[in-house]
Amino acid sequence: MITTVVIKTNRACNLRCGYCYYINEATERYGETISLDTVEMLYHHLSDHVPPDQSVRLIWHGGEPMMIGPRRFLRFLELQREYFKRPPLNSIQTNGTIWNPAWIELIQHYSVEIGLSIDGPADVHNRKRPDIRGRGTFGALREFTDTLNYFEIPWGALTVVADDFVGAGYFKTLDLLGASSCDLLPVMRFHGAPDTDETARIRMIAEVLRLYREWRDHWQDRFLVRLFASYIGGLAGHPSVFANTGMSPEAFRSFVVLETDGSICTDVEFSEIERASGAPHYTLGRAVFDRDFSFANVVEELDRRDRMFGLTALSEGCLGCDFSSACGGGHPGSRYSLLRNDFQSRSAHCDLMAALGITVRSDLQSIGYGGN
Ligand code: SF4
Repeated sequence: MITTVVIKTNRACNLRCGYCYYINEATERYGETISLDTVEMLYHHLSDHVPPDQSVRLIWHGGEPMMIGPRRFLRFLELQREYFKRPPLNSIQTNGTIWNPAWIELIQHYSVEIGLSIDGPADVHNRKRPDIRGRGTFGALREFTDTLNYFEIPWGALTVVADDFVGAGYFKTLDLLGASSCDLLPVMRFHGAPDTDETARIRMIAEVLRLYREWRDHWQDRFLVRLFASYIGGLAGHPSVFANTGMSPEAFRSFVVLETDGSICTDVEFSEIERASGAPHYTLGRAVFDRDFSFANVVEELDRRDRMFGLTALSEGCLGCDFSSACGGGHPGSRYSLLRNDFQSRSAHCDLMAALGITVRSDLQSIGYGGN
């Protein structure tokens, strides 16, 4: 059953982050915004699909979703009353730079969860997340977090781990800003993508390991970091709680993206693969306006893709790996090979995942766990 929909509100952003897979020089239909009709069709089909006693999670995403303005977003929220017995859980993933008091009011009134994209201390964040004119955005972000904190609205941080990731000062910054949670997302990467500087990559792995140790020693009671928690859980024999450490077939069949034009897609990680290969790995060939559309058919299609490409199974290269219970072969998209057009490789993040596995296993062994 579909339980989570990421809604692409608009194909535009006021920032130009270097690692963004969605907004860059290749973005087609730049500036397109989702219509009320498209959102209404989504609600119509979802309310048919999800049992009335269950809530669906809607993640409003972009581009930068706040570019659509609070008035239109309010209309999207109000419309939910007409379709759902149990209100959906709404969250906005934002860069936190173009809010205004009307946004704060509706966030409070509708208990909208806030995820903020933050890359670290001011100098790091300003360098990696500039606005369209190249100016740093930490100051604007800080005004937003101060306001959220003043109104006691909890918010979480999401950080992309690209090859220029900097761990120094990361947790201290999030603590000072008042984040209630944080997540580290390894950047979208697959085999055959334009390659990166190996020296930078080795430095990034060292930064992540250093950050893990800092978290272990000082911050684990303050922040749950799913990447680290999933590794510890995985090596101790618990199932993955994070798409980047492997996905179960049930998890893969529970999550879709609604694009601005009404088409239904898989995880956005696959959009870059589709762009590079031309093969339809992101789009599912279905749109909410299709006459015969249903989410039951979408679930069937996801299941068919999973079986056809082995998306949720470990690839051959991972069988026998000491860390497979924790790494899970990484995100399915990271196993893609452009050359072979299949998902049968180790994760393109295997070096990072294995280094983390060695470190976490050694910690577990030091306190008496077998660690595999
Ligand atoms: S660490 Fe590498 S080989 Fe091991 S499961 Fe992960 S991707 Fe596969």
